Amino acid sequence: MATLTIPKLLPKEELFDKVIKSIQNSGRNVIVLSKSFPLRIIVSDSITQEKLVVYIWNISQGGKTRNPYEYRIQMKGGSLVVGEDFKTILLGWFDSEQIFVAFNAYKHQTFGYSPSVQVPKQTMDEAANKGIATHTKKLNIVRGQEIVIAFRPEFIIEYIDILFPQYHAAKLMSIEKAEANILANPLDVSDADIMKLSAPRRKAVINVIKNLRERKFQEYIWQLYQGRCAICGLGAHLTEAAHIIPIGGKGTDELVNGILLCRNHHKAYDSGILVINKHYTIILNKNKVSELQSKGEDSMLNEFIRDSRIGQKIAMPTDSRFYPKKEYLIINCKSKGV
Ligand SMILES: [Zn+2]
Repeated sequence: MATLTIPKLLPKEELFDKVIKSIQNSGRNVIVLSKSFPLRIIVSDSITQEKLVVYIWNISQGGKTRNPYEYRIQMKGGSLVVGEDFKTILLGWFDSEQIFVAFNAYKHQTFGYSPSVQVPKQTMDEAANKGIATHTKKLNIVRGQEIVIAFRPEFIIEYIDILFPQYHAAKLMSIEKAEANILANPLDVSDADIMKLSAPRRKAVINVIKNLRERKFQEYIWQLYQGRCAICGLGAHLTEAAHIIPIGGKGTDELVNGILLCRNHHKAYDSGILVINKHYTIILNKNKVSELQSKGEDSMLNEFIRDSRIGQKIAMPTDSRFYPKKEYLIINCKSKGV
């Protein structure tokens, strides 16, 4: 039998900070307009700026008479402020797993008669594991269905930018039949399933799936190469996962299509200054080098090449199942004319 976690309850200030910090960690600026409940903020980057009204409560357990595996937020105040020129975000925070759960504020706009909103523990567990997970539930005939979205803090911008407009921006948002299943398991979905969706939804879902896959790919490749560039050994969080066959060139997010490289070696690999052959040896692409020299674009290139371990093997993951796939290395070499 699964053990029950007693959720830790955070004071209002800390809940607000979770929201603000998560947004800032995603690279957006936050201006706080008001910290008296609800939280009112302006979120911006160099291109966009928008106002958010955020209601957030701790997620706690359902209580004795309820299903002990059902967790919920208990809303206070009787109604939520919703408007045209701002997004009203209705959140729960589950501290044990560091998970946000978003509900549709418009469907719970007046909640005097029903101040509690549930989320299954399983949905939060899945979000902790995968990044984002959803749960579809029937409310009643008038309010229809609601899609509850649980996500890790690093996905808060995906929620605000992509998922909110599709699922939580109005009261009567319908949920297409196919999509509850797709969103429940976004890392394992077929193109045929995605094609069943209407065009705007398809775009949103594809975006989310793409971001989820890319983050997983980055996370796993980083672990496999222990954070160090496979060519020069540089760590210090200056590395990133590179695709051997690029996604744009029909490459996949399989781990054997990835290598961890520092930013310079990633660029050098993508542009074809360096390639890695099927014996995992680092090869200098002399044609590319002379091309750069002839254009006078080779400043400090010799020094860079000297530190690139030409003729030696790349650092490999300890587990041979995750070695770069030879077939992919060959395709990459061919595409670079080496
Ligand atoms: Zn490097």
